Amino acid sequence: MKTTTKFVYALTGLFMSGLVLSCSDNEDVQPVDASAETMVGPVDEHGSDHDGSCSYVDNAWASSANLYTSLPNSGSTSGADLLVSQNVAIKTFWRGSSVAAPLFRFVRDLSNPRSTFNAMSYSSGKIYYGEEIYKWAKNRDGSNLINVMILAHEYGHQLQYAYGLPSRQENTARAGELEADGMAGYYLRRGYGKSSFAAIATAYEAASAIGDYDTNSGGHHGTPAQRKSAVRLGFLFADPQNAKLTATSFDSNFFYYYNGVLNGTYRMAQPSSVTPEFHAFMLTHMEELGKIANGEMSDEEYRNL
Ligand SMILES: [Zn+2]
Repeated sequence: MKTTTKFVYALTGLFMSGLVLSCSDNEDVQPVDASAETMVGPVDEHGSDHDGSCSYVDNAWASSANLYTSLPNSGSTSGADLLVSQNVAIKTFWRGSSVAAPLFRFVRDLSNPRSTFNAMSYSSGKIYYGEEIYKWAKNRDGSNLINVMILAHEYGHQLQYAYGLPSRQENTARAGELEADGMAGYYLRRGYGKSSFAAIATAYEAASAIGDYDTNSGGHHGTPAQRKSAVRLGFLFADPQNAKLTATSFDSNFFYYYNGVLNGTYRMAQPSSVTPEFHAFMLTHMEELGKIANGEMSDEEYRNL
């Protein structure tokens, strides 16, 4: 993510915020990460992990960034506690109550705020969420649906770490990123209760602006059209007439219909992993998914699906 805008923050805010913020303590020190997945683009993740330090996050973030368990509940950071509770709710939706939720922390950097325009999911069971991406999403959607969508995407990476997904391997991050988008669409309908696609589509149009066309980059997340198609596919899987999917069954279904996400062509034979009813339901949406993936569907049509 390239940034050209410089932000200037009053340093006094750093000290005043101490009343309502707390640096994370050392209770949850994790092993060194093998990898991390992001929402918005490639980040090299190597070296030491210093979760728990107030002076250093890790080398995926600026050296001046810090970890916090909350953000001020006012102005453009109001409502951020929703993500803390959703971090647990999304986990419970997919994995039940007996599995621990990821360690969730906000990353804040008042001297270099644009450096926190990112959210990262770590293989050691952590999600770090940048203050700037929170504010960006909150400003575009006061209901915070974009932020919940981003968090659900990051939790999709936690599912991938836990279950060895995605089952499809490509030369770039695309398969895993598009699957995480699909998992987010699935959660928003089935777990977060957004029964209408319109609200999700509006939110996702904002988020999909982050999609890239750098298809040869290792961090390629899929084109915006592919990301929109992926979230729509997840939304369709979540139709109430379909049985609830586990992470692994979501994966097998997602990659069965994946060519439609990529280029609008769909295999038509019924996969052995799904019921005839499920496949018949999906077939009724093939043309629509193809139009999304091919970029032939207008934003207005997409919102009104
Ligand atoms: Zn991602």
